[in-house]
Amino acid sequence: MNSFQTLQLGEAELAAAGTHMLGLMRELYPICRSITGPGVRDTLAMVSRLAPLSMTEVPTGTRVFDWTVPKEWSISEAYLEHESGRRFAEFRHSNLHVVGYSVPIDVSMSLDQLRARIHTLPDRPDWIPFRSSYYSEDWGFCMSESERLALPQGQYRAVIRSSLYDGALTLGEYVHRGSSDDEVLVFAHTCHPSLCNDNLSGIVVAAELAAYLRGRSTRYTYRFVFAPATIGSIAWMAMNEARLDNIRHGLVLAMLGDSGPFHYHRSRSGTATIDRAAGAVLRSWHPDATAIDFSPWGFDERQFNSPGIKLPVGRLNRALTGQYPQEHTSADSLELMSANALAESWRTCLRVFEVLEGDRRYLNLSPKGEPQLGRRGLYRTTGGYYDGVADRQMGLLWVLNLSDGEASLLDIAERSGLEFGLLAQCARDLEAAGLLAPAHDKAH
Ligand code: ZN
Repeated sequence: MNSFQTLQLGEAELAAAGTHMLGLMRELYPICRSITGPGVRDTLAMVSRLAPLSMTEVPTGTRVFDWTVPKEWSISEAYLEHESGRRFAEFRHSNLHVVGYSVPIDVSMSLDQLRARIHTLPDRPDWIPFRSSYYSEDWGFCMSESERLALPQGQYRAVIRSSLYDGALTLGEYVHRGSSDDEVLVFAHTCHPSLCNDNLSGIVVAAELAAYLRGRSTRYTYRFVFAPATIGSIAWMAMNEARLDNIRHGLVLAMLGDSGPFHYHRSRSGTATIDRAAGAVLRSWHPDATAIDFSPWGFDERQFNSPGIKLPVGRLNRALTGQYPQEHTSADSLELMSANALAESWRTCLRVFEVLEGDRRYLNLSPKGEPQLGRRGLYRTTGGYYDGVADRQMGLLWVLNLSDGEASLLDIAERSGLEFGLLAQCARDLEAAGLLAPAHDKAH
């Protein structure tokens, strides 16, 4: 098995991953997903081509902590038909045209009566909004404001051929076994229909990460969970409560395909290793990134960080929820996505994993004065990746100086401001030269 080494990622491999993720997204895009139903299963079946998922079906009515698994929803057709026979807001053209979880309906009404059932975005007259009604039985249509304004007067027939029935909520899980039972949790929500940044980008980046880890040996066990937002993460936690203690670090992935800067949302403590690892990676590689403190109005990290669960889970995004206008509209489409952005998001996650994998404490075996490095040829990099000779020299000196068995490589990265991968390479080279040894009893 190959060991896990992000820095060996070449530009060709990066480009291939980006193309691959965008291709998968194109296939997933037309599927009508919701919090339950066949769209979620079809999505998970496609993800399974990259990393075989094990599926769990949680039956309708199951109590999961304070929640109850709702009915399953499926839909085959929906439209508004004018008395002339012309159809509008056809589901077959866009699954956003129907309010998610709409009950089945077949009624006639005037345009005036219909208005209360039609959702638009007057400020963005060409975009179709995404609306859902998961926890109350309702129905409705969504269309662009310009389409709505062009609806002819007269009688309409509103048809939604959907069904709500006792079924199940579907969770998908892929586990990459490491040498330790300690786990890294990666979570992506799966409940949005034809919307790309939220949530297909999270799904494809998580899937590509799982695919990358396959066949590589790691220290941590990586658990990828694909589930609907809120009810899905809660159901998964309720079903796996006994196992949650193994989770050491976690990351929720969403909105990773637009070309904006990264935003990292810290865990509840704000000082968890995952927060520090993400912080170190973004400082080194993406100085335009912003780290944001935890809020209970977040994505699924708010479930993982709830006081009775207390898992150190952060969230990586590019666009910020509530702050990109395309969110939950038809404009969150493939045009907003970039293969490069997806690839860079993927690599950023791998770099965070690299910190988690490589963060160790070492002991300087020649701690009296500075060992003579030039004599050992250590100023030349063996990895061949870093051209920055000065950084390399500083890295060797920082690792030697702080490796008293107390500071870990992540501590050294934070204190020195140097890139973690550079310090990890310095530590490997110093170890090979007999100047450094792992401080075994302090591993964490
Ligand atoms: Zn959303």
